[in-house]
Amino acid sequence: MNINKIKAIEIELYNIPLAEVLSDAKHGDHTHFELILSRVTCEDGAQGVGYTYTGGKGGRAIYSLLHDEMRPLLTGKDASQIDEIWDKLQWEYHYVGRGGILSFAISAMDIALWDIKCKRLGQPLWQVAGGASNKTNCYAGGIDLNFSEEKLLNNIQGYLDRGFEAVKIKVGKEDYLEDVSRVAAVRKTIGPDRVFMVDANYSLSVDEAIRFGNAIEQYNITWFEEPTIPDNYLGFGEISEAINIPLAMGENLHTFHEFEYAVAQAKLGYLQPDASNIGGITGFLQVADLAAKHNLPLCSHGMHELHVSLLASQPHSGYLEVHSFPIDEYTHYPIKIDENGYAVAPDVPGTGVVFDDALLAPHLVKKS
Ligand SMILES: [Mg+2]
Repeated sequence: MNINKIKAIEIELYNIPLAEVLSDAKHGDHTHFELILSRVTCEDGAQGVGYTYTGGKGGRAIYSLLHDEMRPLLTGKDASQIDEIWDKLQWEYHYVGRGGILSFAISAMDIALWDIKCKRLGQPLWQVAGGASNKTNCYAGGIDLNFSEEKLLNNIQGYLDRGFEAVKIKVGKEDYLEDVSRVAAVRKTIGPDRVFMVDANYSLSVDEAIRFGNAIEQYNITWFEEPTIPDNYLGFGEISEAINIPLAMGENLHTFHEFEYAVAQAKLGYLQPDASNIGGITGFLQVADLAAKHNLPLCSHGMHELHVSLLASQPHSGYLEVHSFPIDEYTHYPIKIDENGYAVAPDVPGTGVVFDDALLAPHLVKKS
């Protein structure tokens, strides 16, 4: 018997309400996030759980790709052949789905296979993925563009009270001077020494981004994230040349090749891959290598309960985003911030993301 032979794959879709409406400059209001789980069971009963998420749209299409296409394709395959499966999924659906939802579906499968791999080794992901450390720098990533300035500052104070030493806010208001005033107010609240980033969710033109970048330079901003549309690598390069704040992007780069173009042309200061949409842990580690080759700090976007282990594992990790979609509140190991503001990776065999099925159950949309 090949114990690694995949016996069963179950797919689940959840629609989880947020505690309050969260907004950014390009995606509008978020009321829910979607979670798509892939549970892979091997011949000997070993099980791995992988997942991806959305901002509330597209989950059914990802579910269908996983359930209707990938489940039959992978059943019977060897779960330990992670790279081979990753390649197969890329090329099988490349013509119809390169990047986009294909990358989300591959991510959910890949993470499940890594979960099995780590469990068989009896080691936590931070060790298996590189082992540099079990903790990483992190920041609280607000989705707060719709908050009044007073509420924004209360929210920031809440992050500081939880132990964060770094924060990020959304920008991209109709009138950029309002953004400048919010940036000034946040800097005053957090004091001169804490790390502070801004994120425009690609809502600005190149000229607007340059104007805004110059206007907030005095507030010591660690990075300006997605100032303009992520496909405009040369536009990023132009902005980078014209302002004195490093640029960051990655959440909208869904293939390794897009990261290669970005590194070659966009003059970035930080890379922010997301294992939920770059092809899982396999895809994330490819970008980690690219970052290392170019001396760029590796950061992350979203799903902090998983990325905490991946960033901790890498010697060139920058900042983990502790995202405003609280996926970790539906797991047994929610994010842990230590007394110095570091995020600490779970020390259990597997990815460290163990969903609490009872908490998820009320939000189930469909399952196979
Ligand atoms: Mg962002």
